[in-house]
Amino acid sequence: MCGIVGYIGTKKASPILVNGLKRLEYRGYDSAGISTMEKDEISLMKDMGRVKNLEELPGINDLEGTIGIAHTRWATHGKPSKENSHPHMDNSKTFSVVHNGIIENYESLREKLKSEGYTFYSDTDTENIPNLIHYYYQKLENEKGIERFLKAVRNACLDLKGSFAIEVICKDFPDNMIVVRKDSPLVIGKADGENYLSSDIPAILSFTRTFYLLDDLDFAVLSRDNVKFYDSDLNPIEKEVKSIEWDAVGADKNGYEDYMLKEIYEQATSTRETVGTRFQGAKTSFDELDFTKEYLSSLTRIYIVACGTAMHAGLAGKIAIEKLSKIPTEVDIASEFRYRDPLVDEKTLCIFLTQSGETADTIAALKLSKAKGAKTLAISNVIGSSITREADLSIYTHAGPEIAVASTKAYTSQVVLMNVLAIHMAEVLENNDQTYLDSLKKDILELPEKVEETLKISESLKDFARKVYQEKDVFYLGRGVDYAIATEGCLKLKEISYIHSESYAGGELKHGTIALIEKGITVIGVLTDKDLIKKSVSNLQEVITRGAKTLIITNQDFDTSAFDVVLTIPETNTFISPVLAVIPLQLFAYYVAKEKGLDVDKPRNLAKSVTVE
Ligand code: GLU
Repeated sequence: MCGIVGYIGTKKASPILVNGLKRLEYRGYDSAGISTMEKDEISLMKDMGRVKNLEELPGINDLEGTIGIAHTRWATHGKPSKENSHPHMDNSKTFSVVHNGIIENYESLREKLKSEGYTFYSDTDTENIPNLIHYYYQKLENEKGIERFLKAVRNACLDLKGSFAIEVICKDFPDNMIVVRKDSPLVIGKADGENYLSSDIPAILSFTRTFYLLDDLDFAVLSRDNVKFYDSDLNPIEKEVKSIEWDAVGADKNGYEDYMLKEIYEQATSTRETVGTRFQGAKTSFDELDFTKEYLSSLTRIYIVACGTAMHAGLAGKIAIEKLSKIPTEVDIASEFRYRDPLVDEKTLCIFLTQSGETADTIAALKLSKAKGAKTLAISNVIGSSITREADLSIYTHAGPEIAVASTKAYTSQVVLMNVLAIHMAEVLENNDQTYLDSLKKDILELPEKVEETLKISESLKDFARKVYQEKDVFYLGRGVDYAIATEGCLKLKEISYIHSESYAGGELKHGTIALIEKGITVIGVLTDKDLIKKSVSNLQEVITRGAKTLIITNQDFDTSAFDVVLTIPETNTFISPVLAVIPLQLFAYYVAKEKGLDVDKPRNLAKSVTVE
């Protein structure tokens, strides 16, 4: 989950590396460090805390090296501390390594290396890597040139179980760097006479728009003006260069106080981009998909598999996909799905949602479904991300870079895209009234305007946030699609404000949790599905009777006199109401967190892309 950066060129590496780390800090921020290739040795500077601490270390500006590696950590093995921070070096200080991922067999490797005389100075799984490379390097002393370095890295990697993206520099090869990845992200940005490395594309977009994407166990040997690629048997391979259309501005704060706020306000644009030109013809267009009537009719089940916010988008998407395709559709948590031997076969379509396309559990669930014969469809926001290279089919949300840890615009784009997909499936199956589908398309096209309106209306929640920011618990209620929305709103609040919150399907509350409702507690109701409003109002009455204060988000006209605060947002088709109704909940969570003085972009213990299971 950490962020790694690398540079090899003719400029001073340290400021480039520190700058890159700042852009990757959303991925991990308990410690940070860099190594650069100085005249006769490899430098190593690292410290606990944010990249800012690293930047202020005495001597960091004196580093002259033009090759370097850097890391911002999200600890998995070993507490956040200076010793456990990356980079890690081998005992002889010949190699320096940064690593993103988890080495599952770290204990046995450590024992083996200790028996070979190596000493360990940290509690990390990572420290095995430079020592293991050194171990093989010694054994390969008859090899000449860069081959020796490459073979040592490759032999070490073959011993590693788990996930890794690794950058390695070696004192004996001051003009090279070797990188490799397996199940953790790493991209190489190619520029004139220099190469950049990063865990994600936005961090280095201001330097280049031209990228190489590595597949699992591809090894790259970098020099200043060249990158050579090898497969896991070290046969040379060719890699295509990919051009990225986003610009660096998209990845900047653009005048907003935080990335999260900027991303919340970008939702009119991002949802418009998600729809793109898909509705321009008489029928919804998905050139990337090969869905025929025969194939879709053969399906017995659809699974939507994801984690966190993407799973909540799945809960909303399921309702449209199941109703419109008339194919039984289930939503599952990727980390559960992958270990429960799910019943999937060639008659199952498995849809995987992940903003980053790097979520470890979701990728593993996809690999499992593919092995069982199901067709796999990845929905991601990052072009060329790992999941899109594994899946049979891929479509993109085109929401633009999302930097804040708490997902906002990626969620609304995922909901929109699943609705567009549901319409496409219904059109291919020809099992729905086209007039109804056309009216849903019209509602989707009107979303950006209604998003703008909802953003304005929701700003009034600042006052309500001021009233509740010191509370300990908040409850969220909804039924049907409103339950899906409540669940996502609830997650936003706990993620960034650290207030304990729980969401319930309206009818569930009295099966236990109502025991917690007491005078003054805040309950937020989402009421957009007009067929279920009466039922939800009854559930809210039950909590009001027990002294709760209530905020409701609705788009319907009914008697709301019983509620303390009522926020009325624009009406739309129920399938897509999450796109509008989540906005006040995102902003409410944001206002509460700001009121508490918290860092909304980098909430404690969280990282943006969860590349470990
Ligand atoms: N497992 C390594 C550690 O705990 C790397 C974690 C990361 O990806 O940040 O240091």
